[in-house]
Amino acid sequence: MSRVYNFSAGPSVLPESVLQKAAAEMSDYRGTGQSVMEMSHRSKAYKPIVENTEALLRELMGVPDNYKVLFLQGGASLQFAMVPLNLRKKGRAAYVDTGVWASKAEKEAKKWLETVTVASSKAEGYSEIPEVREITGDYDYVHITLNNTIMGTKWPYLPETGEIPLVADISSCVLSEPLDVSKFGILYAGAQKNLGPAGVTLVIIRDDLITDSPVEGTPSMLRYSIHAENGSMYNTPPCYSIYMVGLVLEWMKETGGLAEITRRNQEKAALLYGYLDASDCYRATAKKGSRSLMNVPFLTKETDPEKADALNKKFVAEAAEAGLVNLAGHRLVGGMRASIYNAMPLSGVQALIAFMDRFAAANLH
Ligand code: PMP
Repeated sequence: MSRVYNFSAGPSVLPESVLQKAAAEMSDYRGTGQSVMEMSHRSKAYKPIVENTEALLRELMGVPDNYKVLFLQGGASLQFAMVPLNLRKKGRAAYVDTGVWASKAEKEAKKWLETVTVASSKAEGYSEIPEVREITGDYDYVHITLNNTIMGTKWPYLPETGEIPLVADISSCVLSEPLDVSKFGILYAGAQKNLGPAGVTLVIIRDDLITDSPVEGTPSMLRYSIHAENGSMYNTPPCYSIYMVGLVLEWMKETGGLAEITRRNQEKAALLYGYLDASDCYRATAKKGSRSLMNVPFLTKETDPEKADALNKKFVAEAAEAGLVNLAGHRLVGGMRASIYNAMPLSGVQALIAFMDRFAAANLH
């Protein structure tokens, strides 16, 4: 069977060459006679894998020396808890509500500190990033979700927070374009979109923020200090997922690094948004100026809700038959969404547009 174009929001498409390399190395990793899955995480064979993954990540993202790179578990969702558990000082943090994941992060933090929603685009249906260029106040940190996977928005600027650490969830935009790590206190991302398979969570944390958790009873596994002291080896890390992230990062480097990946992402996004904006039959839901490079939600221009719903279902089903899978919008918002992460080739976007033309001709005129 040939491979489909997979527009899933995550876990999502991986570079085919990476999958082939992993398959070739599956039962005998580079002459060790073992699969990476079978190796002790403290073995001589495994150590270079995790070290290489970290080195590549530092290189591609330009992580400054005064930041630790941690490979943890629990997904981005566990970071919703670890951030407040470890950064609480005065007991108050600022959150910007730009979507479902942003509000989930805030809701979780409320278990350990007071949160203040300093800006929100909820009233606009989360179709844009609010204007909040500067955030000041008595906050332990400011939390933002840099790319909002469900509504397809991305911060077009970074808020100025002065001395207050800026914490960002970059799950759905990590390594999609350049990011100045030095502007942040903590960056975190689940791997299962741009980095590799699910199971490993990337945390990049500035050294001065790694202190003992101030919250009594915080489990060892939820303390950044414990993970940092042990080089992400406090317990058994997600060894195989880390290896896969390493292969994806090697692919990025061979492809031309972040500059080339960014160019490709901009090209794909410009093609798709350009098509949607010019269309009589479809429309993008995220507002210009706040649009994600990675997640592109869209609707037909049908205004009758029942007819629109039936058309969406038909679109998703027929697209899947044509080899374009996982195009349904998030269950909370409906419609369609094309996630065009780093590993989605330009030909996938071209195939999607060709299908949209065919579907429109048959159903939308
Ligand atoms: N934040 C964002 C922006 C996401 O897109 C997701 C998942 N799609 C999450 C957090 C939750 O991530 P996880 O499933 O890794 O906990």
